[in-house]
Amino acid sequence: MEKRQRILAIEAHPDDLAYFYGGYIAKMAAEGHDIRVLTITNGDQSTCDPALSSHDIVAILKKEHARAMEIVGVKDQRFLDGFTNHFMFSSETQLKLREVLIREIREYKPDTVITFDIADVFEENPDHRLLARVGLQAASFAAYPLVHPEQLRQGLKPHFTGRMLLAPTKQPNVYIEISGDPLEKKKAAGAAYKSQLDLMFSELKYRAETMGLKPDLDDLSPQDLWESVCESMAEETAMAGNEYYALHKDIAPRIKLMQAEAFRMQYLGAMEKIHEYLPKEYRIL
Ligand SMILES: [Zn+2]
Repeated sequence: MEKRQRILAIEAHPDDLAYFYGGYIAKMAAEGHDIRVLTITNGDQSTCDPALSSHDIVAILKKEHARAMEIVGVKDQRFLDGFTNHFMFSSETQLKLREVLIREIREYKPDTVITFDIADVFEENPDHRLLARVGLQAASFAAYPLVHPEQLRQGLKPHFTGRMLLAPTKQPNVYIEISGDPLEKKKAAGAAYKSQLDLMFSELKYRAETMGLKPDLDDLSPQDLWESVCESMAEETAMAGNEYYALHKDIAPRIKLMQAEAFRMQYLGAMEKIHEYLPKEYRIL
């Protein structure tokens, strides 16, 4: 698309964007599009190291997040207040989050909202599941003046979000090439969350031990493991993308994908019903 885009990425935890779609964001930032990142929780339970307190992990993640955002080229980013990692179950909290996100959407007026995929039944993280549902509702309801009319009385206007990008997803319908600079930035941004790589690495080791396996991980650093996983994921996603586009030639890129990220692209309201008739440039990334 020629038009300069406004992208609102809403993540549940500080590291979600980097791991799930850091390449796409790095690419869009480098092309000069406007990007705002909102992080719902501060990740205050995101460790399996018994030596770390909540306070410790929040302080560590804050620094790591700032560095990762700098690497992918995001300048406009902020944590929301009042939402607790893994404990956003009450309907009050969910309605509060929806209200806050509707306000954010009316203020920022994004073309595209990125959040989790509501259709992922295997998603184990409750914050990802919740945000998938509440984020989609907020993007939809920001258009309705009778939903939180007090925001309109304060000067905000209804906003009609163009489309959603959902990631990670088991049902992608759009793929984007990230080889070269975007992939390198994704690797570096992911590596910036050293605390989360350590978490994944030790979790892997302990779960393997529970299963009676003895993984030989001693020669491998968490960063090396992440970088090789990141590359192989990008290659597998590109292969899946090439297969997808072989069946959807009308929106296929001219050249085959090498290393890619995938999203479920979803339009909102009536637009979703007619999106197949939109010009190609509105159906690709
Ligand atoms: Zn997360």
